[in-house]
Amino acid sequence: MIAPTNKTYRITLLPGDGIGPEIMAVAVAVLKQIGEQQAIAFEFNEALIGGAAIDATGSPLPDETLETCRQSDAVLLASIGGYKWDNLPRAQRPETGLLGLRSGLGLFANLRPATILPQLLAASSLKPEVVEGVDIMVVRELTGGIYFGSPKGIFEMENGEQRGVSTMVYTSSEIDRIGKVAFETAQKRGGRLCSVDKANVLEVSQLWRDRITTLSQSYSDVELSHLYVDNAAMQLVRAPKQFDTIVTGNLFGDILSDAAAMLTGSIGMLPSASLGESGPGVYEPVHGSAPDIAGQDKANPLAQVLSAAMMLRYGLGQPAAAEKIEQAVLAVLDQGYRTGDIMSEGMTPVGCKEMGEVLRKAIAASE
Ligand code: NAD
Repeated sequence: MIAPTNKTYRITLLPGDGIGPEIMAVAVAVLKQIGEQQAIAFEFNEALIGGAAIDATGSPLPDETLETCRQSDAVLLASIGGYKWDNLPRAQRPETGLLGLRSGLGLFANLRPATILPQLLAASSLKPEVVEGVDIMVVRELTGGIYFGSPKGIFEMENGEQRGVSTMVYTSSEIDRIGKVAFETAQKRGGRLCSVDKANVLEVSQLWRDRITTLSQSYSDVELSHLYVDNAAMQLVRAPKQFDTIVTGNLFGDILSDAAAMLTGSIGMLPSASLGESGPGVYEPVHGSAPDIAGQDKANPLAQVLSAAMMLRYGLGQPAAAEKIEQAVLAVLDQGYRTGDIMSEGMTPVGCKEMGEVLRKAIAASE
C-alpha cells in the first residue's frame, strides 16, 4: 500500500484542436486511474488554447489561460492548429498561442526523446537493422532563434516589392543555458553530445559553436562533437545509432526532432517536455493536431499518454507512477494492439478510445 501524500497536484489541461481533445481524454483517464492506484491527488483545470481559444475569445492564448498555467504544478498540452485558422493574421494564428505559452512560462529547453521500441521495429520506414536500438534525446532551444528574433515581418519596399524578414539571433547567455541542460542530459545518458549548427554559413551559428565548445571544458565526462545541420539530417536517417544526445537551436531542432521521430515508426508515439529555470513545465506530444484524422477515433493517444508519464517524472517527481504508465504502454503493444499509424501485419487494429481502454486494463492488471 502506498502512503497517500497531502499534496494535490494542480494540472492545467490544454486539449486544443483537432485530435487534441480525443487524445487528452485518454491521458486524463489514465492519470486518474494511476492517481487512485498510487494515491496521488490531482486537480485538473481545463483551459483554452489555439483555434478553440480563437473561436471562443478571439485570442489563441487568452490571459486567463496563461495565468491558470502559471498557477499550476504542470501543464499537459495536446495539440493546436487546423485548416480553419490557417489564413488568419499571424497574431491570431493558433501557433502564436503556442509560442506565447512557451515564452510566457520561460520554457527555453525542449526535451524530445526518440526511442525505438522493439515492438514497433516494423513500423519504421527504415530497415530494422538501421533503427534497432535507437535511443536519441534531442534538446531543442525553444524561446530564441529565428522564431522570435527581430526584425520580423512582411514589409513593403519603395519599388513596390514585398520583403519577408525573419531574424535568427542568439545571445551568449541563451546558448549557455541550453548548452548546460544538454550537457547535463548527456551526462545522465550515454555521455555523448552532438551540437548541430550551420556555422559554415551563419554567424549566429558560429557563436553557438564557440560557446558550446567553451562550455564543454566544464563537462569533461561528456564527449562533444559538432555537425552542420544538413549533414545531421543525413546522418539521422543513414546511421541514427551514432547519436546519443543532440543539442540545437529552435528551427533546426524543430525539423530534426520530427525526422528523429519518424525513425521510431510514428510521430504518434513521441512525448516531449518543455522546461524553464523554475515554474511549471509543459508536457506535450511531438505531433500536431492531425486535422486529417480528427474526430474519427483514429488518433494514436500513446504520445499524449507518454507525455503524461514525462510530466509525472520530470514535473511532479513521481517516477514510480511514470514507470507504471510506460510499462502499460509496452504491455498493450506486446499484446498486439495498434492504431492505424503503427499498424503492421497480424496486429489487432484499435481506435483511440479502445487503445485507452486496453491501456487502463493493463494498468489495472499491474496493481
Ligand atoms: P501533424 O503532426 O498534425 O500530422 C502529420 C501526420 O501525422 C498526419 O498524417 C497525421 O494524421 C499524422 N499524425 C499526427 N499525430 C498522430 C497521432 N497521434 N496518431 C496518428 N496519426 C498522427 O502535422 P501537420 O499535418 O504538419 O500539422 C497539422 C496542424 O497541426 C497544423 O495546423 C500545424 O500548425 C499544427 N501543429 C501543431 C503542433 C503542436 O500543437 N505542438 C505541432 C505541429 C503542428
